[in-house]
Amino acid sequence: MNKTLSILGSTGSIGRQTLEVAEALGLKVEALTANSDVKRMEEQARKFRPRMVAMADETAAEDLSVRLSDTDIRVAGGAGALTEAATMAGTVVTAVVGVAGLKPTLAAIRAGKRIALANKETLVCAGELVMETAQKYRAEIVPVDSEHSAIFQCLRAVQDMSEVRRLILTCSGGPFYGKTWEEMAPMTCADALKHPNWRMGPKITVDCATLMNKGLEVIEAMRLYRLPLEKVRVVIHRQSIIHSMVEFRDGAVLAQMGAPDMRLPIQYALTYPHRTEGPAEPLDLLSCPPLSFAEPDRTAFPCLGLAEEAVRTGGTACAVLNAANEEAVGLYLRDRIGFYDIPRLVSRAMEAVPVTQNPTLQDILDADSAARRQVF
Ligand code: NAD
Ligand code: MG
Repeated sequence: MNKTLSILGSTGSIGRQTLEVAEALGLKVEALTANSDVKRMEEQARKFRPRMVAMADETAAEDLSVRLSDTDIRVAGGAGALTEAATMAGTVVTAVVGVAGLKPTLAAIRAGKRIALANKETLVCAGELVMETAQKYRAEIVPVDSEHSAIFQCLRAVQDMSEVRRLILTCSGGPFYGKTWEEMAPMTCADALKHPNWRMGPKITVDCATLMNKGLEVIEAMRLYRLPLEKVRVVIHRQSIIHSMVEFRDGAVLAQMGAPDMRLPIQYALTYPHRTEGPAEPLDLLSCPPLSFAEPDRTAFPCLGLAEEAVRTGGTACAVLNAANEEAVGLYLRDRIGFYDIPRLVSRAMEAVPVTQNPTLQDILDADSAARRQVF
């Protein structure tokens, strides 16, 4: 196990849980980064004593450097500082939200680090490029996302990927499960932020309500495991006990189960290929509700279909989907648009922005910017 850790996005939901796991495992935290939450970053820095802390927001970095002036912790600001932080330890946990994680993740890959990857947007917008770069630099990518961690664990049972018939991604259905279009249309972000099973950051919580999260996860799974869309199936599983499954060529299905506690997949990404004791809650089978499975409703939740359409189109289409969704969710979180404006704006951006096949990093970043300009 790598004994040193950098955490990008340490003040967020995954970042904070990573610090709990790191503390329990006795790992040395070398670098922490965040966007602008100076107060929480100061607390984390004083507790974990990293060599460096970086704030993406330059003003926040200035404020933090005053607050930490009595310590020997180096404080840096801006996007370049995030990239530097990403390469300072044996393992980097990418717990940033959004495409902001792309460049630091690529930097960590080029430095041959283990990437404990939570930042799914990076794999959605640039998955092929990221996976090719990881192969070239022999960087290990171990997923933190619970579904992908489940699949990663189940796949240890195969000799090669031709033995896999398909992946079965489970989906909680989110807070609006079972509602009709008419019932969901007036839902505000306050309603969407009440997720039944997980406590997460605001963006992913809205993505769970629209099912865009599952759409992003389908693309994430295709990129991580190099499988076509036909081999990734989504199944609604309200209880979030089975985190995902792999169906093999002979019809056998392996499932990974556990209490819905992100500290377990986070820890596994840090300790893989080993397992150790840790802070995650064990699963109490006797108090589990009955497990149920259902087909997702693609009419009431059009974002899932939009993600599938983007990945079928290929090239920069997924970057456009992702960027338009980030912008639309940002507007929804500020109560500026309604629930169904999210798929409407994503769809409009996908129609408006031309697709480039076999994109370079610059093509992807250009498509990302063009998509954002379409969302207003
Ligand atoms: P969050 O909003 O709670 O935290 C995001 C972190 O990223 C914060 O530390 C914030 O300061 C930082 N950040 C935000 N914008 C930034 C920017 N422009 N530049 C640099 N840093 C920035 O989010 P979260 O729920 O912890 O999710 C983080 C990532 O993990 C997302 O990609 C999400 O999809 C993924 N994920 C989260 C969960 C979960 O349970 N929360 C589960 C699976 C995957
Ligand atoms: Mg997930």
